[in-house]
Amino acid sequence: MGKVYLVGAGPGELELLTLKAYRLIKSADVVLYDRLVNPEILLLAKPECQLIYVGKEDGKHTIEQEKINELLLHYAHTKEVVVRLKGGDPFVFGRGGEEALFLAQHGVEVEVVPGISSATGVPAYAGIPITFIGLSSSFAVITGHEDPNKGRTSVDWESLKGINTLVFLMAVSNRKEIARRLIEVGRDPKEPVAFIERGTTREQRVVITDLYELANDPPEVNPPAVMVVGQVVKLKKYLTQVINKGASKVVSCVL
Ligand code: SAH
Repeated sequence: MGKVYLVGAGPGELELLTLKAYRLIKSADVVLYDRLVNPEILLLAKPECQLIYVGKEDGKHTIEQEKINELLLHYAHTKEVVVRLKGGDPFVFGRGGEEALFLAQHGVEVEVVPGISSATGVPAYAGIPITFIGLSSSFAVITGHEDPNKGRTSVDWESLKGINTLVFLMAVSNRKEIARRLIEVGRDPKEPVAFIERGTTREQRVVITDLYELANDPPEVNPPAVMVVGQVVKLKKYLTQVINKGASKVVSCVL
């Protein structure tokens, strides 16, 4: 009987992997990985390691969750080191909790290896600190997968009014409705919004807008992207150069 490691692969860049994840991937007999896992990470596995893609495409499920659970169970019984590799952190919108529970219910030993979530790592790489004295003393990470105007939503939109920085994942297709809803619950239409596509990778692209524009004439954004709403987005223009290039001194900062 083997052990299943639910491992976070981080948001993209290879070096954002934890040392523990690195060690486990190197020793894995089988790696079951998701769509957002950087392929460079898979090259770390030993040659005889089995690599199995179990990603779900947006909209259509390439492979159902039950099938993934069955596969995990199967490999837990036939291999020693089973790595279930997920983008970011396995317990942040990654179904890691559900898989851990399923395995535990079937008597399989499970260990969770947290990863750097895109919710915090991606804004950081783009020069957006999600907290900042005087601008933001709270943040929330919210699923953008649910259209706020359609039927019942499990997101408490009213409660989002009082949180300084909002980080939405899986929000690209509902971006317009999300902006409308946030204005409706009382957020300032002039509040800046950033979309960071493919954060921490060489293809990173940032789109800056505000809630009003987003609700009325949304700019083009391609998934995967992290959506950040809040005054901290204004810091980006001062911090990007300094953080990523080590260059240019920030002389004055008007927020
Ligand atoms: N467990 C993951 C999140 C899974 S949900 C984590 O902790 O990061 C998938 C969503 O994560 C995507 O729709 C997108 O919003 C976000 N995401 C993941 N990687 C990203 C990246 N490199 N750049 C931008 N967004 C990313």
